[in-house]
Amino acid sequence: MNDRPVITRFAPSPTGHLHIGGARTALFCWAYARRHGGRFVLRIEDTDQARSSEDAARGILEDLAWLGIDWDDGPEFTARDEDGHTASFGGDARGVGPFYQSRRREIYERYFEQLVEAGLAYPAFESPEELAAMRKAAEAAKRTFVYRQRGDYDHAAAVEQMKSAPHVLRLKMPGQAITVHDSVLGDVTFPAEELDDFVIRKADGFPTYHFAVVVDDELMGVTHVLRGQEHLNNTPRHIALQRALGFATPVYAHMPLIFNIDGTKMSKRDKDKAAKKAVREAGISSTRALVERLQAGARERGALESVSDNDLQEWLKDKQRQLGREQVGAVARALGLKLPEIDVEDFRAAGYLPDVLCNFLALLGWNPGEKNADGTDVERFDRKYLASRFDTDRIGKTNAKFDRDKLLAFNADTIQHGLSDEQFAELWLGWAERFDTELSGWARADAARWAIAARAARPRTKTLSDARETIGFALLSDEAITFDERARKKFLLRGEGAGLAVLQALVPILEKIDPWKPEAIDAALHGFAEEQQLGMGKVAQPVRVAVTGTGVSPGLGETLALVGRDGTMRRIERCIALGAGN
Ligand code: GLU
Repeated sequence: MNDRPVITRFAPSPTGHLHIGGARTALFCWAYARRHGGRFVLRIEDTDQARSSEDAARGILEDLAWLGIDWDDGPEFTARDEDGHTASFGGDARGVGPFYQSRRREIYERYFEQLVEAGLAYPAFESPEELAAMRKAAEAAKRTFVYRQRGDYDHAAAVEQMKSAPHVLRLKMPGQAITVHDSVLGDVTFPAEELDDFVIRKADGFPTYHFAVVVDDELMGVTHVLRGQEHLNNTPRHIALQRALGFATPVYAHMPLIFNIDGTKMSKRDKDKAAKKAVREAGISSTRALVERLQAGARERGALESVSDNDLQEWLKDKQRQLGREQVGAVARALGLKLPEIDVEDFRAAGYLPDVLCNFLALLGWNPGEKNADGTDVERFDRKYLASRFDTDRIGKTNAKFDRDKLLAFNADTIQHGLSDEQFAELWLGWAERFDTELSGWARADAARWAIAARAARPRTKTLSDARETIGFALLSDEAITFDERARKKFLLRGEGAGLAVLQALVPILEKIDPWKPEAIDAALHGFAEEQQLGMGKVAQPVRVAVTGTGVSPGLGETLALVGRDGTMRRIERCIALGAGN
């Protein structure tokens, strides 16, 4: 290699949320730049005016920042964590911006002119209808349609005509095979017959993706292009453009596609696919029927009501068709369906930790090739390790498998064994601030109680969203506790109400506990069990049922501390009053 500093880039199109495949590309580009002491550029490819949005671009920056993937050159962005610490990313230290392609049109114009003047690009005037007819004729003749300049094309006349007539610009392909030297896949040759004179400037004057990407990679000094294999077919076109423009060809590394564990390609449509299946299985044909299945007052109502029955039918029929994010979420909620997470935001909402997600993403098509002391492969590592080890020579050629069970196991392991109670309390609160404001309100109301909740939940938690289940009883009002009948019969009513008698006897003891803290509560209950010569289970289970409605909860001291003394007394009294009745 030459000694130019390594420069990689991630170039998302802001047409929606950052999905997991994009996040992997970003992570690998970031890691490659860090490994080689280079720079990582973030560029927003918003030349598709109709599909791009500012909001989507902003969301992508946020998702990257949340993952801890920082960029050197690119849109300026300030991330703020829960403690108010800020970190700034991006900027234009090298003077190669702007980083939104829609703001670089003048730059592209210079290169369009250069190519047209040299006769390497030319205006073409076919209407969409004419192109469709040409495509149809090729199909009828069993040929693949490949656009080529006509033999009698008059460049000078066409250049004159383009001043007034609608047109696109096309690159004149050299008529030679083009070989991509790929660091992962080796040499891949594309025969000349397959390479058409593709469009480089659209009729609306915007550059196509192919053109903008090539100009920007050159002007931003990009030395290494790491991207998904779905882009491999674009690469010979990019090389042809680089040659026409007199640019260097960067090193290419195309990464394996990501597949679901069932062998289907992982796609942003997977959520719709799961929702369509559930709607069909439930035999539902109107959005009204879906709305009826939502709980009263569910905030998803509006999203569902915005889908007409006709939209619903079209969506069910057409595999490609997607509903909006909120809408598909509402369908799932109506049917009690858990959607597969696809976007980074989905994983965040589900309560995966950014460090775990990065670790897991790094293994999609790459491995460090190191062994642990016990001979197993090194699989758990942080971004620092990745940045010190990552290289393209260990990127695989074959499809990567997205193993959700493994991701969940990584997340649970980190929460249960890799965090302190304090770290978990903080992360969980940060998560709740964004995704469960009822929970964060409860947390903010009593910091000591939140610390107990975190300590109680952490050993039982796999994702931040499931942690709430462990302590959910504490958030309910005392009257909202419903009793699991089997638990009530077993622990309270059996043996002529032995459990109820224990509750009665405990009332005065509980009233005297001071301070109302887990340790003191546990000590008092143990003392009572000993004195009465009862096994601890005979004391603990009746209390658990009374306070939580079930026979399962964290340690009793923590459980009662979370509910508070007043709540505990009220719940126990309510349970005693209920007696054997229901
Ligand atoms: N904007 C393209 C995409 O989002 C970038 C592809 C590339 O890396 O060249 O897929």
